[in-house]
Amino acid sequence: MEHNVISISGGKDSTALLLLAIERQTENMQAVFADTGHEHPQTYEYVRYLEQATGVPIRWVRADFTADIERKREFVRTKWPAMLIAGKPEKPGYWLAQVGAPANDNVPKPTHTPVDPYSATTYATWDWMPAVRGIAPKSEEEAAAVVERALAVLQPTGNPFLDLCLWKGRFPSTRARFCSEELKRNPIIEQVQLPLLDAGDDVISWQGVRADESASRANLTERECKGTWESGAELWNYRPILKWTAQDCFDMHRKHGIKPNPLYQQGMGRVGCMPCIHARKDELLEISKRFPEEIARVAEWERIVSDVSKRNSATFFAASDLGVVDNDETVLGRANIMKFVEWSKTSRGGRQMDFLRADNDNLPLCTSIYGLCE
Ligand code: SF4
Repeated sequence: MEHNVISISGGKDSTALLLLAIERQTENMQAVFADTGHEHPQTYEYVRYLEQATGVPIRWVRADFTADIERKREFVRTKWPAMLIAGKPEKPGYWLAQVGAPANDNVPKPTHTPVDPYSATTYATWDWMPAVRGIAPKSEEEAAAVVERALAVLQPTGNPFLDLCLWKGRFPSTRARFCSEELKRNPIIEQVQLPLLDAGDDVISWQGVRADESASRANLTERECKGTWESGAELWNYRPILKWTAQDCFDMHRKHGIKPNPLYQQGMGRVGCMPCIHARKDELLEISKRFPEEIARVAEWERIVSDVSKRNSATFFAASDLGVVDNDETVLGRANIMKFVEWSKTSRGGRQMDFLRADNDNLPLCTSIYGLCE
């Protein structure tokens, strides 16, 4: 038997994917929504609307990090005291030739250190592997205080995104992008696909990705076998809207009388985590104007996750993006999400406040980068 598992995110692409599956009268179809715990309430409402409007049941799955957090508690209790007392020396950065880059005698290995050695950068065909900051040795009492502070908050909250960050002691970033795998991919594989594969049934995993979204997506193929299980069953990735444009996806909504996620009419280029770690400057500004409560929630998460970080500092966006070197305990005060919101109101590379950008009082009801406003 073959099962078609359609991943739903509440965005335009996965909605178009679901509508395509319905249009083709796909058999043995199940729609699945992986709830990260960090979506906007309008997205949750939209997923419920989609279920009711299409008549296709949508199963919600959530990652559970209870066991990981329990293991981390034990690690913090038994290993952190000695680690904090010993401190950690800084690991210097270094230049590495880019994988697959053609030999170029004109560009020998650079000898300079980048201005910010803690952030990745490139020079011709060379990648800078960032330096890793050290941790200053602590006294026994200071180490005990850090451990006590961490154990006080290191408890599962039931929110997948926050629990993931508590377990890791940090937020995901564009360079350490563990969130989509842990919060979206793994729960769908573990809770939906694996039981089917173990039972000997093939799984076709429908994915709403489009080639024009990024260079890496442009290299994807429409069909790809991901492996054969011991049971003999096969897992396939299927990307039927790979060659579609964003407009094709909205056209599909119109064709089936399905309204798009309302966030697209409120200045959002993508829906999903609010905000996403990849949020652009304009997007962050729009979120802060329309949904300040989402920013406040993340600010509170920064405070909580900082308590389980050895440096007592965890920022949602990379501190180095604001030019803040996070090698001391003041970084949260200097690069928290509120500071990024302030930066989003500026123009000229962040040096000058742009009062037009910062104007909160004249928000149009509809702003859509996809031209969805009537
Ligand atoms: S990449 Fe963005 S949308 Fe995806 S899980 Fe991470 S924060 Fe959420």
